[in-house]
Amino acid sequence: VTLGRKKVAVIGGGITGLTAAFYMQRMADEHNLPLDIILIESSLRLGGKIHTLRKDGFIIERGPESFLDHSNSVRELARELDIEDQMVCNNEGKTYVAVGNNLYPIPTNFVFGGPLEVSSFITSGIISLSGKIRAAGDLVLPKTDQEDEPIGDFFRRRFGKEVVENLVEPLLAGTFAGDIDHLSLKAMFPQFSQLEKDYRSLILGMRKSKQSIENKMIGSYQTFQNGLETLIETLEKKLETKRIFKGVKVEKIEKEEEQLKLTLNNMSPIKCDAVILTTPFNATKEILNNNSLINEMPQMSYSTIATVTMAFKKDQSNIDKKDAMSFFVSRNSDYAITTCTWCNHKWNNVAPEGYDLFRAYIGRVGDEAIVELSDTAIEHTVLHDLKKSIGITGSPEFTVVSRWKESMPQYTVGHEMRMENLRIDLQEQFPNIRLVGSSYEGISVPDCVTQGKNAAKEMLDSIFL
Ligand code: FAD
Repeated sequence: VTLGRKKVAVIGGGITGLTAAFYMQRMADEHNLPLDIILIESSLRLGGKIHTLRKDGFIIERGPESFLDHSNSVRELARELDIEDQMVCNNEGKTYVAVGNNLYPIPTNFVFGGPLEVSSFITSGIISLSGKIRAAGDLVLPKTDQEDEPIGDFFRRRFGKEVVENLVEPLLAGTFAGDIDHLSLKAMFPQFSQLEKDYRSLILGMRKSKQSIENKMIGSYQTFQNGLETLIETLEKKLETKRIFKGVKVEKIEKEEEQLKLTLNNMSPIKCDAVILTTPFNATKEILNNNSLINEMPQMSYSTIATVTMAFKKDQSNIDKKDAMSFFVSRNSDYAITTCTWCNHKWNNVAPEGYDLFRAYIGRVGDEAIVELSDTAIEHTVLHDLKKSIGITGSPEFTVVSRWKESMPQYTVGHEMRMENLRIDLQEQFPNIRLVGSSYEGISVPDCVTQGKNAAKEMLDSIFL
């Protein structure tokens, strides 16, 4: 056991960095380890993509709005933070897909391109008869043993073009703002590639493994009753404030004997023994490229999106689909928005009595220029789409536009292999630097929490064992 005092720097104060710092602090306290942790965040606020705006009784999420916690990682963190009692689940409601000029309810047991029961899929009005016959081809088609392929190719191969256009693509574009012809099946949906390997047919495979898939993939969306930022605020309170630097940008990391020297934009350099880098990949690349030791950093692209939240007086909204919770939009429909949530249907606590709150997304890979328009132009476009889709007639009481430039990392085909090679390179040159966060092993908030927690444990194991 090493007895000397060690200093670890966590770069980036989003959910990944805060989780890593919190668990390191907790483990160090529990095991009485001689550890100093500092967290360095370039902006003046913590939270990164998680950003809740609380305004006149409304809870508005500028970034992520909720999460599906298959691994229970957020619940475990909330328990450790004593805020588990503030977690809330979504209300029941229907999800629709806009195809052409119509909204169709998605079969209740349809999960990301995999119908659990053929019957519900066959009877849904969203796919033509020939499309349904083609989709049933999944039952007899052979499997392939390709290592990785684009998500679009995979689902087209199993279910045909129509299912992909009208179901898979809208759900994915609305969730990841990505291009299904480039996104990696293996990195994003390994469970589907495994189903094909194990059962050949996805329909048969999902039926047979229905229980485990339901547990893993279906389930409620969750958030905190006062917004997702509750998680950030509580983490910040639990971390010792003297260990957090806000408004400080890490520009470069260099090796200095056994230590690492961090060059900062507005403070003298800091020396530490190890670093957990949780910055988005493009920022990480800049920090690592500067020292010219890691020359061959892989490429990663990001999509640019914006969330647009609008509040209406109830008598102004006049909505057709009273049972709706959210809807997604297929590319072949004439809409600028990619998805929209009726927030006060989904959650009890987000709008005062007498108001409706909607949150739409605009922008996706190949269709990002819209995000650059003025707030007024964006409001006009979104309003037009809401009128056409769900019949809203009035003007909003207010609109909040939140632009997220280059914010959604795109795990394109080969992502896992590229990241693995980078880790091997890094391990050779900088064994005391870890790369974690939304650019690596999952974009969702629970995935980031899992990565932060694992990084904390691995880091302490590596420096104290
Ligand atoms: P970030 O939150 O990006 O944090 C990284 C931090 O590093 C930032 O605070 C940044 O300022 C800082 N930084 C950057 N460069 C430097 C530097 N040089 N020095 C110091 N600090 C630096 N996930 C879900 O589960 N459910 C959702 O509904 C959902 N919706 C989303 C909606 C939107 C609009 C977006 C953008 C994302 C959404 N996500 C959702 C994804 C999820 O929010 C993110 O993947 C996650 O919050 C990223 O956390 P992170 O800590 O890895 O990165």
